[in-house]
Amino acid sequence: MSKTDARGRGTGVYAYRCNQCRTTSPDVPTRANLRGERDDHRRRFHGGHIPDGEEILEEERVRFFDLPREQKIAAVVVALVLLGGVLFKLG
Ligand SMILES: [Zn+2]
Repeated sequence: MSKTDARGRGTGVYAYRCNQCRTTSPDVPTRANLRGERDDHRRRFHGGHIPDGEEILEEERVRFFDLPREQKIAAVVVALVLLGGVLFKLG
């Protein structure tokens, strides 16, 4: 399941943005797919040339400190339980 942002893009992993054409590719899951989108766009709309102002849009990674407080606490508790389990096994 994926969310959609204000421009109607799904939140995949990568997208190619051409600021000359003011367009953004559909989201693609890998860098190889991204290169395909980029090369296809350059060939079809710019005769294979590299347009000024092209961008790679990458989904932001979720950082631990961005999580809600309850999820941070839960993550710490799970980590401590796992650590305790490992230490119990070893000890
Ligand atoms: Zn373009």
